[in-house]
Amino acid sequence: EKCSYGDLQFMEDIGHGSCGHVQKMQYKGHVMAVKQMARTGNADVSRRILMDLDVVLRCQSRHIVICYGFFITDSTVYVCMELMATCLDRFLARINPKRVPEPYIGQMTVSIISALNYLKEGMSIIHRDVKPSNILLDWDGNVKLCDFGIAGQLIESKVFTRNAGCPPYMAPERFQPDVNGMAPYDVRSDVWSVGITLVELARGTYPYPGGSEFEILTALLQMPAPSLSVEEGFTPEFCNFVELCLNKDVEKRPKYDVLMQHPFYLRSLHDSVNLGDWFQDHMSQEE
Ligand code: ADP
Ligand code: MG
Repeated sequence: EKCSYGDLQFMEDIGHGSCGHVQKMQYKGHVMAVKQMARTGNADVSRRILMDLDVVLRCQSRHIVICYGFFITDSTVYVCMELMATCLDRFLARINPKRVPEPYIGQMTVSIISALNYLKEGMSIIHRDVKPSNILLDWDGNVKLCDFGIAGQLIESKVFTRNAGCPPYMAPERFQPDVNGMAPYDVRSDVWSVGITLVELARGTYPYPGGSEFEILTALLQMPAPSLSVEEGFTPEFCNFVELCLNKDVEKRPKYDVLMQHPFYLRSLHDSVNLGDWFQDHMSQEE
């Protein structure tokens, strides 16, 4: 059976991001989320996108958004994926008070770390763009990652040329090229992004002071890393987990094997709180 992007039928807009936009669409009766990204003229970037899409299609994890397939035209890449209920940044924006209680953050942490570990160990890839809008929730409260590899490559290439916005979830070392140029991307840069995301979920606000990109970047490089405290009502285990993720020295930051043995991770793994029920309660409330 011939597949063509001409069979995609627009239903509604979902959102716009740094390197594309996402729409709810129907393909031969199946409802899905379709992400469209403009192709750059760069042959090297195009080749990597194709390689990444191949990996994305082979991913099988309950913490990774299912990718059904993709279309590529001269100008655009269309990635067809499982339609999820919402992402963490939008969800955070609609709950009141605007904070995710620690036990639910624990559940999310287990899903996020498992997904990142699966990508690394199972697929030999690094996400590169961990942030609340790339962490999606379905109606059952399952937490899944999306937008790894491809989007990350695009964002990295923008960092290299420094012509676009600096994504504020990036680790300090991503902005400090050594004498030989940019160091290879390490999973620990994603660990930093997880830490920033957890602080944002816990407090309800992005931890660096608002303002220009330059101010954020200066704070990222010069100020101590954000942290959570027991005085704010968080458990010592959670505070310590975040502290480890947000070590400014990449060499001292742990990888997934260590994080998956951490008391906060292990406690959350065995915790039976129902994220699905809590999520649905909030989503059914009027905006
Ligand atoms: P961003 O840089 O904000 O992640 P994207 O273009 O990747 O930008 O996504 C735009 C919006 O679409 C985000 O709010 C994201 O959560 C949402 N989105 C992306 N993929 C899906 C999906 N599979 N199901 C539902 N919403 C999605
Ligand atoms: Mg995204």
